[in-house]
Amino acid sequence: MSNGNAERETLLSESSKAVAVEILVHGAQSRARLAQRMGLSPATLTRSVRPLVDAGVLIEADAVRNPGRGRAFLPLDVVPERFRFIGVKLTDKAIYAVVTDVRSRVLDQVTVELRSLQVGDVVDAVTAVVGDIRSRSEQPVTAVGVTVGGRVEDGELVANSPFLHWRDVPLRSLLSTAIGLPVHLDNDVVGLTKSQQWFGHGKGFSSFALLTVGAGVGYGLVINDVMVPTFVTPVSHYPVDPSGPLCPLGHRGCMTAFLSSQSIASAVSAAHGRIIGYDDVLEMAKGGDPTAVRVVREAARALGRATSAITALTGVSRIILSGEGVHLVDVAWPSVEEGRAEYDIDRALHGELILRPMDFIEWARGAAVIAIQQEFPGTQMAIQ
Ligand SMILES: [Zn+2]
Repeated sequence: MSNGNAERETLLSESSKAVAVEILVHGAQSRARLAQRMGLSPATLTRSVRPLVDAGVLIEADAVRNPGRGRAFLPLDVVPERFRFIGVKLTDKAIYAVVTDVRSRVLDQVTVELRSLQVGDVVDAVTAVVGDIRSRSEQPVTAVGVTVGGRVEDGELVANSPFLHWRDVPLRSLLSTAIGLPVHLDNDVVGLTKSQQWFGHGKGFSSFALLTVGAGVGYGLVINDVMVPTFVTPVSHYPVDPSGPLCPLGHRGCMTAFLSSQSIASAVSAAHGRIIGYDDVLEMAKGGDPTAVRVVREAARALGRATSAITALTGVSRIILSGEGVHLVDVAWPSVEEGRAEYDIDRALHGELILRPMDFIEWARGAAVIAIQQEFPGTQMAIQ
């Protein structure tokens, strides 16, 4: 975001940043409404807005006539064409990339199969995908957000990704050097949670949780508008039933043991003596295959228990269920309800479960939001 000319840069105040984010997330607003919503005096608001307008981040949008009073006012809005971001979600099979505007609207997307999980090969492949999608963008790209499943430390290091079979890979530096743009790295569930918080199903809710099921179990938590650091591995191995199946780490009845696509597919495959994929298991459960029905119902009940535990431990009542494996909920919703109710005395924990299947492009959008949150509106704004 720096233009390299220190004399023409100014540090944005915290209230300027807060105003910019408020407008970005909640849309164009009049100064009067902004001052009221944010509890700022008109003078402070004017001081906060001016550098943003000067820098071309905010614009006075077209006059809106207030029907009640007849007076026209000029709402403030972000300049959507000013920023472009690239989001990249890495799985063990493919690179999913999007170009978004500053409100994370997807303008372009591409999916490229990954042929190798060697670090150098992945860096080359991501660099090529970013170069390709960047060359098609009419506006310059500000930054790239990249997310992976697994533990990411300090926005720099993929400390442990069981899906990619990586440990301690300084992916952010490697990609930033290769791509030549600022790169922001985070865990994929963190990206998805943040995109839901600003632009998705968590918008307007100061507290909510996101629970994803698929290759692994992911958990994101927002309390009082702040994303709480959640430690992906311990939560995905949270015990839900001491008599449940074993996970690859040897836990009996943990969330991964019940809910990962691999666990579910393996349990049904073993019973039938042939390899059966996850989607086929769901189809078989729909068709009434007794083993598939049992395994899917047990998984759904574990999911229900986990949601009750989340509400009990955090007080959060709105829980978004997602992930590529979440369709098991469609097949066995009564079992989810059963699991939720088990420890829910007087329905005290009965929160709002929202089912929102999201494809990998949506996860790539989450990666773009990691970059947006880091870069917008910029700590140092060039005065133009
Ligand atoms: Zn486990």
